[in-house]
Amino acid sequence: MITRSALIYLSQHEGLKDFATRFKAFKKITTRFVAGEDIDEAVEAIRKINASGCSASFDHLNESVGSAEETKSEVSEYLRILEQIDSTGINSNASIKLSQFGLEIDPELAYKNARVVVEEAARRNNFVRVDMEGSAVTQATIDIFKRLRAEFGLNNVGIVLQSYLYRTHEDAQELLKIPARIRICKGAYSEPPEVAYPEKKDTDENYVRVMKLLLSSGVYHGIATHDPKMIEATVQFAQQEGIGKDAFEFQMLYGVRRDLQTQLARDGYNMRVYVPYGKHWYPYFMRRLAERPANIWFVTKNLFKG
Ligand SMILES: Cc1cc2nc3c(=O)[nH]c(=O)nc-3n(C[C@H](O)[C@H](O)[C@H](O)COP(=O)(O)OP(=O)(O)OC[C@H]3O[C@@H](n4cnc5c(N)ncnc54)[C@H](O)[C@@H]3O)c2cc1C
Repeated sequence: MITRSALIYLSQHEGLKDFATRFKAFKKITTRFVAGEDIDEAVEAIRKINASGCSASFDHLNESVGSAEETKSEVSEYLRILEQIDSTGINSNASIKLSQFGLEIDPELAYKNARVVVEEAARRNNFVRVDMEGSAVTQATIDIFKRLRAEFGLNNVGIVLQSYLYRTHEDAQELLKIPARIRICKGAYSEPPEVAYPEKKDTDENYVRVMKLLLSSGVYHGIATHDPKMIEATVQFAQQEGIGKDAFEFQMLYGVRRDLQTQLARDGYNMRVYVPYGKHWYPYFMRRLAERPANIWFVTKNLFKG
């Protein structure tokens, strides 16, 4: 059986995408997790999500920019996203990855690029979430986020923390002092035991611990998970502490547990769906396969159907 870390390893090899895209059927399958290759398809997907009572977060996929020049087109794409949100009236904010803006080329470049996007979001009263990537860039991501947050409002820029990292509870405490809006997720990258819990049960325990810290802070945070145990723990803790349903939001990924997404929205919870689109879907798609072995079966079955 192909393992989670093997799939994450394969996710880092964009070259394999060429192989994958030779199969027409493969592209069809990606639409389960990716809203399309262009912005109009993503807007259409978000309209449907909004109609089911959920808000969205736009994500343009491109983690592998190779030059400072390329980061400029990412900035333009995000300015287009913010403009489209306003002109179409869809209910969405935006999620960015700093690698997309040049973090691995020069952190200062990533900061400057992200600043352009956050400034435009602030002008439009919208919000930009800085996604969290691999542990090699955790500190750099937090540092850039803090600079952005010093310049822009609580409701204009937020960050993500991953419960599989040992450092996360402490990071959450520090960021809450600013304060900051945090999305807590489990973490999607392959991390060594020096920095991350090797056992899922410890990641889950830490998730609950951080979730409680966030919900008790009085700041509006994002509880990102498809795990019914994490959702139940959140619902119970909020009820027990008298924390209103409008004091936080649940977040899930496009195409994952759609039943649970609409159920939570129907139950009166704020539910946000993360909607990725773009030509560079390969690493994102592979991480989604890594999260759930049954997804590999889904791919195999549909490849042979297609
Ligand atoms: C809105 C959002 C934003 C995110 N942002 C980031 C980020 O910035 N950085 C980062 O490292 N990670 C991010 N993630 C990914 C996250 O870290 C996890 O990898 C992912 O959410 C799976 O963890 P889980 O909490 O759903 O629990 P798990 O224990 O992995 O899964 C619980 C159950 O959820 C269902 N499920 C989970 N994943 C899938 C899937 N891919 N396909 C089908 N069913 C599935 C299955 O039923 C599974 O049994 C984000 C996740 C969400 C929902």
